[in-house]
Amino acid sequence: MKVPLLDLQRQNAELAPQLTEAFQRVLKSGRFIGGPEVESFETSVSQRVGVPHAIGVSSGTDAILLALMALEIGPGDEVICPSFTFFATAGCVARVGATPVFADSCPDCFNIDVADARRRITPKTKAIIPVHLFGQCADMDAVAALAREHGLAVIEDAAQALGAEYKGRRAGSMGICAAFSFYPSKNLGGFGDAGLLATRDGELAAKARLLRDHGAESRYFHRRIGGNFRLDPLQAALLSVKLERLDSYTESRRRNAGYYASKLGGLDGVKLPAVHPDRGHIWNQYTLRIDSRRNALKEFLASRGIGSELYYPRPLHAQECFARPGAVPPRLPVSEQLAEECISIPVYPELTREQLDAVIGAAAEFLDAGTLS
Ligand SMILES: *Cc1c(COP(=O)(O)O)cnc(C)c1O
Repeated sequence: MKVPLLDLQRQNAELAPQLTEAFQRVLKSGRFIGGPEVESFETSVSQRVGVPHAIGVSSGTDAILLALMALEIGPGDEVICPSFTFFATAGCVARVGATPVFADSCPDCFNIDVADARRRITPKTKAIIPVHLFGQCADMDAVAALAREHGLAVIEDAAQALGAEYKGRRAGSMGICAAFSFYPSKNLGGFGDAGLLATRDGELAAKARLLRDHGAESRYFHRRIGGNFRLDPLQAALLSVKLERLDSYTESRRRNAGYYASKLGGLDGVKLPAVHPDRGHIWNQYTLRIDSRRNALKEFLASRGIGSELYYPRPLHAQECFARPGAVPPRLPVSEQLAEECISIPVYPELTREQLDAVIGAAAEFLDAGTLS
């Protein structure tokens, strides 16, 4: 049985009439930059996140970049982020001229190890970027305490976490600002690239809006040097259709994750992801740790038509682009181990029980083969 890692055709086919209607609306409006479609989407997301300001942008990456630019983080500054995350988290720090300082992660829930982050603080540290990896919030109380002590700005990388919660608070409402992504594989997946910066700070929001459009206060008069980080009205209109389904998507992802947890936990060599009961995990990915057979398992699943992915096969502190000439790369043992052992399996909302059983059956066949013989 074929089980792709993600099945967007199935998800979008169900919404075809509403999506077509949204497309027709934008087509007829003739407005392809800014305007009411973007504003209405921004309002919907800001209400969902529970902050007063939302700025639609061109991607999740640009949301992080814009946050750093608006906070005026640059050369000479250090920003702490996890090493075990998607590249954009740290890439944006380097792009504004600041230095990403990598912290290790929790071996069980995969999020930033705040105690390790604390050891990496220097007088140059200006900000910390906790990532709510795979859809589960980082330990934000610990992050907030550290930030308060050292006067750091907290930028949440909530690219994978729209709808996730932490002790009743929503992902994206806990830092000074938060970056969201609507890359097609995210829980709210768009039709191309899109993102959003959410913030409770009005001043920061105003600055980010300015920077989103070349820093221009009015057209052709530039107060600051910004960029083109705009969200398309077409993308906003289509995303607004899918936003209405987000809660039901989350519910289905949770059901699938619960089913996996009940069936996969006992398999030889499997470590299930830790789920903190005070955090509303939205399961952007279902990521397991597997013993030394991880790569072989991936191949075996592929041979059975089952998709999987390695998020992430090389931690950021070990990436060539961050290597400093002559310097020994830092060791982050947990991040390195996670890069060796993690594998993400299909958890998308439209999975059928038969598909889930096919994934579980194939994993069991491969992993328990040694035990049976
Ligand atoms: C997807 C993602 C991003 C970047 O979002 P894009 O929309 O792809 O630019 C940043 N951080 C994390 C953790 C992500 O998963």
